[in-house]
Amino acid sequence: MWKAFIPDYPIIFFSMEIGLEPSMPTYSGGLGILAGDILRAAADLGLPMAGVSLIHRKGYFHQRLDGAGNQAESPAVWSPEEFLEALPERVTVIIEGRKVQVRAWRYTVQGVLGRTVPVYFLDTFLPENDPFDQTITDQLYGGDIHYRLCQEAILGLAGVAMLRDLGYEKVQAYHMNEGHSALLTLALLDEKLARNHLLTLAKEDREAVRRQCVFTTHTPVPAGHDQFPLELVQRVLGDRSTYLLTLAECWLKNTLNMTYLGLFFSHYINGVAMRHGEISRNMFPNYPINSITNGVHAQTWTCDAFKSLFDRHIPEWRRDNLYLRYAISITKEEISQTHRQAKEEFLVALEERTGVRLDLGTFTIGFARRMTPYKRPNLLFSDPERLKKIVREVGPIQIIFGGKAHPRDESGKALIRKIFESQDLLKDAVKIVYLEEYDMALAKHLCSGVDLWLNTPQKPQEASGTSGMKAAMNGVPSLSVLDGWWIEGCIEGVTGWSIGEGRGTESDYEKEAAFLYDKLEKVILPLYYQQPEMYGRVMRSAIAYNASFFNAQRMVLQYLENAYIAGK
Ligand SMILES: *Cc1c(COP(=O)(O)O)cnc(C)c1O
Repeated sequence: MWKAFIPDYPIIFFSMEIGLEPSMPTYSGGLGILAGDILRAAADLGLPMAGVSLIHRKGYFHQRLDGAGNQAESPAVWSPEEFLEALPERVTVIIEGRKVQVRAWRYTVQGVLGRTVPVYFLDTFLPENDPFDQTITDQLYGGDIHYRLCQEAILGLAGVAMLRDLGYEKVQAYHMNEGHSALLTLALLDEKLARNHLLTLAKEDREAVRRQCVFTTHTPVPAGHDQFPLELVQRVLGDRSTYLLTLAECWLKNTLNMTYLGLFFSHYINGVAMRHGEISRNMFPNYPINSITNGVHAQTWTCDAFKSLFDRHIPEWRRDNLYLRYAISITKEEISQTHRQAKEEFLVALEERTGVRLDLGTFTIGFARRMTPYKRPNLLFSDPERLKKIVREVGPIQIIFGGKAHPRDESGKALIRKIFESQDLLKDAVKIVYLEEYDMALAKHLCSGVDLWLNTPQKPQEASGTSGMKAAMNGVPSLSVLDGWWIEGCIEGVTGWSIGEGRGTESDYEKEAAFLYDKLEKVILPLYYQQPEMYGRVMRSAIAYNASFFNAQRMVLQYLENAYIAGK
């Protein structure tokens, strides 16, 4: 019935990063993968949508780890022409008074029924540009704030100009995935003012922009929001843009906060889980903030073994993920067998990659995501003696880690070294493997090939989290702090397990570590080793309850109904 609401004009989805294929390093982590999943689901549903991002010719980075867990980075250079179609259009934006030429490359996302969504990657690597300008679209989250502002000028300003050149005149909605693309609001405002030759901002002008814009915030941490000082903005964007920002009253103590800019010009604003919406309302009390909980693209994140199981029992699942609810009628034995197959395939791949052979029958925990302090990857090692005792008395455990630390995040890099130290310390009791180069391909393998997905963020900093959803697609239950999506997804003992209580929004390190050990020792390991058929039942419920809801098709339909067509 939602098909009656398909808009006539396209929705344009702007994101600094978009994860489309493992070999295209155009993403860093959760934000970019989510962007890719939104575009994939839009293609499945046949929604008129297009994506806009930067080409990132040197990618995010390649990660190498030495024997002590020290991370070394190198550029992830790739060839856009192998994956993308070069487009002849050229647009110009002025940066620091220089004319910068911008081109675009097109990627075509294929939906499950063959419908498509184009994604445009903007690129300044053109011989007519200054040497510095040629590098603006090189490195995702690289460089200093000057470099970042230049990138955001390309994304927002050249992005809108390119859309016009490509023939996108009428647009249903511009969706900003985080604040990086918020300068697009200035480009839209400028178009309105240019048409009216106005030097003042009328309420109607702001309203006209607002009717078209949608903003999604992803971080509950104030430092996660881009801010640029007035002098820098004036130098990079010039007087006219600075003047427009003044008209729009977007200066906060002489800094431009990209989140505020996005909020100011959007008619619909949301956080990425119910709790995150609440937290965001406290952060930005002057704005109405809703919630649409994230979801992951089912077909992308389901491993081959479960794909063929679903194809046999619920053939509609790819086209309409709601059907995954009927996984409840598949037998526990079939679910367990399929998982065993997925685990074996992963362990073989792991051995090829690292030379380490892990045991198929041993309880295996997975933990992989961006390495940054609030994710607390070492909570599991806070009491090594306790962990050893659990292994001795209840049953063996092996653990697989993965994840990159941002090149300038020294505390994130220290976390990796700490995991390597625990690896040494525990080597006779627990096998621990750290995988380099965590990417989309590895994420799919890891989320489907372990027995438990562990998530230990410090509350309330996990806006949503998505890798536990990928695990659920493959029947892998989560053990997680009750933050982000897990507040909604956890039915204790049915879809997985909680660490600590849902009440209160602050974490307590000691208490949560104790909860974590208790759950492993008294509930999860006994279930796994002594009642495997009951473990299979949890796996099945994780699919039926969580994969059927925390998927990208549901998320995109919620955006359509609540944000894209609302108020039109
Ligand atoms: C899904 C994914 C992430 C994000 O995981 P979170 O649980 O949301 O932190 C990061 N990196 C890669 C490669 C992923 O596939």
